[in-house]
Amino acid sequence: MENTYSSNFISTIIEKDLKTGKYKNVITRFPPEPNGYLHIGHIRAISANFEMAKMFNGKTNLRFDDTNPIKEDIEYVDAIKEDISWLGYKWDILLWASSYFEEMYNKAVLLIKKGLAYVDDQTAKEISENRGTLTEAGKASPFRNRTIEENLDLFERMKNREFPEGSKVLRAKIDMASANINMRDPVIYRIAYITHHNTGNKWCLYPMYDFAHPIEDAIEGITHSLCSLEFEDHRPLYDWVVRECVMDCVPTQIEFAKLLLSDTVLSKRNLRKLVEDKIVDGWDDPRLATIRGLRRRGYTAEAIKKFVFETGLSKSNGIVDYQQLEYYIREDLKMKAPRSMAVLKPLKVVITNYPVGQVEWLDEEINKEVPEMGCRKIPFSREVYIEQDDFMEVPIPKYHRLFPGNEVRLAHAYFIKCTEVIKDETGKIIEVHATYDPDTKSGTGFTGRKVKGTIHWVDALHNVSCEFHLFDHLTIENEETKELSFIEKLNPNSKEILTGYLEENMKDVKPFDKYQFTRHGYFSVDPKYTKNNKIVFNRIVSLKSSFKINK
Ligand code: ATP
Ligand code: MG
Repeated sequence: MENTYSSNFISTIIEKDLKTGKYKNVITRFPPEPNGYLHIGHIRAISANFEMAKMFNGKTNLRFDDTNPIKEDIEYVDAIKEDISWLGYKWDILLWASSYFEEMYNKAVLLIKKGLAYVDDQTAKEISENRGTLTEAGKASPFRNRTIEENLDLFERMKNREFPEGSKVLRAKIDMASANINMRDPVIYRIAYITHHNTGNKWCLYPMYDFAHPIEDAIEGITHSLCSLEFEDHRPLYDWVVRECVMDCVPTQIEFAKLLLSDTVLSKRNLRKLVEDKIVDGWDDPRLATIRGLRRRGYTAEAIKKFVFETGLSKSNGIVDYQQLEYYIREDLKMKAPRSMAVLKPLKVVITNYPVGQVEWLDEEINKEVPEMGCRKIPFSREVYIEQDDFMEVPIPKYHRLFPGNEVRLAHAYFIKCTEVIKDETGKIIEVHATYDPDTKSGTGFTGRKVKGTIHWVDALHNVSCEFHLFDHLTIENEETKELSFIEKLNPNSKEILTGYLEENMKDVKPFDKYQFTRHGYFSVDPKYTKNNKIVFNRIVSLKSSFKINK
């Protein structure tokens, strides 16, 4: 498995551009709008820009696209920087689109002087109504033929705060009959009386994305501006702005398909709703496919990146199965994570013939597949916890775990045989009694008889209590939910909290420590709830999956 993208249509274009001398070296950028937290879809955009530059010894800028002060917040800036760094990417220069406001304004003035922009007094509604449709040309604004002098005067007065918000905009004068609606005199500046986090009240004129973005790219000398497919129809406008604004650098915009993941919510707008309505536990809820949600869940940057690389860069949209992501975290943790036993739904077993007060310290490998990881000590005494599911008073057919009269192996320890079921006055089972056979100790080569079931356990007198958070998909995707909104699709059982026990040697675990628990899967210590002697483990993924990677 390669640790980057294999060659793809973008690397082919870049290679050719270097060969023909169109560019001398490669500069890319990742341009997030600081209006939310990054999610796994953004990782494709991040890694496309960083990895393609790296492939050609180029550089990548991080540029905050802070040209729309209404939705933006500095809180998101820090989170975005942290998330990109966590992925292991280092930007060359950190930049702000808002620091180019002056230059953008001057370029707009240049367009007016060239007769390529005009001030329009129509309302937003009129502008949109007159834009036409795919089959019908747009209708020219009655203000389209204002003189250059009049436009220059009005635009300056717009800047000088003489007009109310929404009363005037600046539009590029291109072609109201263009087959591409983006080219029908797009709005390039609007008035907004909002304090900007960077420029304060200096500006009440804000550039629109389609005008700002190409100028930002060109100012920074970006050679290849990589973005998702929905910008494909905007490329003619991108090229028009760069050309008509006479920019020194002429960047090439290349679009790739978005990364979409099944059974979860990705768009920032929907994620924000889940957070604000407290349907989830913050932007880092382990069920979210935000970068910090995945991290808190226990995903490693390595596994996520491998997954993203394997999904490739192409022009065809498609939803990737969540199981494919799970495959990569199992692969990553298989050899890295220590193994241990944890009981999530405890049932006490008293081994009545085991001496009271005696403790044996069993020696077990930390990870059988990686002997270098060494050994751990597991205490064993007269009382142990097993899983409630590993006991049945009246067994179903083919049940090989513990039931009255049956013998099983306690993993790494002894055979035990159930002798008695103890219930409370309501008939609920409170504990089970058993006897053990001292000759059957694991590792001693006992061959006298065989048992069909091996179950895991944790000593009931020496252990660490622990809360386990188990997760299921956030949304239910099937034929019945196909037409529903994402709120209606939410899975009411996406989180389950259990209280159980860990092996005693785990009392000092730290946030983000990862383990494989026998039969339960991979778990990671939750950073938010693990404190004051309370340990919370999030389940990253269970052990088995039906998903097979085609290799
Ligand atoms: P969302 O659509 O989830 O609300 P956004 O596109 O508004 O996100 P931006 O901050 O504007 O978020 O995105 C930064 C970059 O990430 C853009 O270049 C955009 O093309 C890219 N991007 C966003 N979502 C995806 C995705 N699912 N797959 C790949 N790239 C994406
Ligand atoms: Mg966006």
